[in-house]
Amino acid sequence: MLQRPSVPASAPTRKRERKHLTRTVTFIRGDGTGPEISEAVRRVLEATGVEFEWDWQDAGADVYEQEGTPLPDRVLDSIRQHGLAIKGPITTPVGSGFRSINVALRKELDLYACLRPCKAYEGVRTRYPETDIVIVRENHEDLYAGVEYELGDESTAKLREFIRETEGTELREDIGVSIKPISVYGTQRIVRRAFEYALSHGRSKVTVVHKANIMKFTDGLFLKIAREVAANEYPNVEFEDRIVDNLCNQLVSRPEEYDVLVLPNLYGDIVSDLGAGLIGGLGVAPGANVGDDYAVFEAVHGSAPKYKGQNRVNPMALMLSGVMLLEHIGERDAASTLESAIADVIREGDSVTYDMKPSRDDPSAVGTSQVADAVIAKMNGAGAG
Ligand code: NAD
Repeated sequence: MLQRPSVPASAPTRKRERKHLTRTVTFIRGDGTGPEISEAVRRVLEATGVEFEWDWQDAGADVYEQEGTPLPDRVLDSIRQHGLAIKGPITTPVGSGFRSINVALRKELDLYACLRPCKAYEGVRTRYPETDIVIVRENHEDLYAGVEYELGDESTAKLREFIRETEGTELREDIGVSIKPISVYGTQRIVRRAFEYALSHGRSKVTVVHKANIMKFTDGLFLKIAREVAANEYPNVEFEDRIVDNLCNQLVSRPEEYDVLVLPNLYGDIVSDLGAGLIGGLGVAPGANVGDDYAVFEAVHGSAPKYKGQNRVNPMALMLSGVMLLEHIGERDAASTLESAIADVIREGDSVTYDMKPSRDDPSAVGTSQVADAVIAKMNGAGAG
């Protein structure tokens, strides 16, 4: 269902002259506050002058009620056809019987890398204004592989027996177990992705993060393979390693010393949230899940359902994910124009949502769509509206 929604009257759009072809992108609105954020992002992306055609696709709880699955094949087919998608947040209802759509998308499309740039724009409320790091997190392996043994299960007893026989350790009977697989293949491709990101974005250093001193056969393998990839394939990019606890300490004391970080899944998840905290919060934390064939751009935050329909939440995180999408498709000028416009609006501090104001009930906070108006006005060379 291809459609190009008309631009609302409130959008002061002045199309830039373009030579490029139309880009067709799957757009998943999401639910909760997703649709209002998505609308704001659609407007700013179109105002860059890049010709987009949106293949609108719905997924999530409402779709589950109507179609019996929260992630119908049509959504995956659309992303496979177009190669890229932008996505508003989707609620994972507790106890609904369906697993997170975000996890399913990553698996189905083999989106093995999660990219999270954490850049503190001037004007955000942060104690770490020098932060400008990029987190490259492995998405499939590690303790999140979903290989688990439940307390009391027969298979858990067999696993205990197997471990006693092969490794010699007598584990307690009252245990649950999660398995932590780390592969050579998975490590090679995530580390390569981190170096490729560094090279294509003018970044000078890659830091591999691990706990190899304790987990020699998993994190130790991750570190060994990362060192090999660094030495054999990217000898001209600075490379170093950090133990994850030390890294966390250093990130909150001198984040400016770090550039691109590559991490296994669990540490990547935790350090991503630390990164969002360093740069002023979820409202400005963008992300992307990418593989070799497909890329899905989405904010770090969730659907914030308590604010649904209130035109209240910050669309900047998904706008900045839109900047990443523009970079991904080679629209560097448009990406930089949009990023600068967002940065200007943040720096001026007038047309920003409640989360970017000094107090959460600041009456001067604007709504989601007014942030889009202000960003579009900046791109068009006018003052923030
Ligand atoms: P959340 O990120 O939706 O919201 C937590 C709080 O952060 C909100 O109450 C709000 O105060 C603040 N916040 C979040 N986004 C904001 C924004 N754009 N502007 C201003 N403030 C913002 O996290 P949650 O409440 O844990 O999750 C809600 C639902 O979203 C859950 O069902 C969860 O599974 C889902 N989720 C989806 C995604 C995704 O689709 N990628 C990611 C995370 C969570």
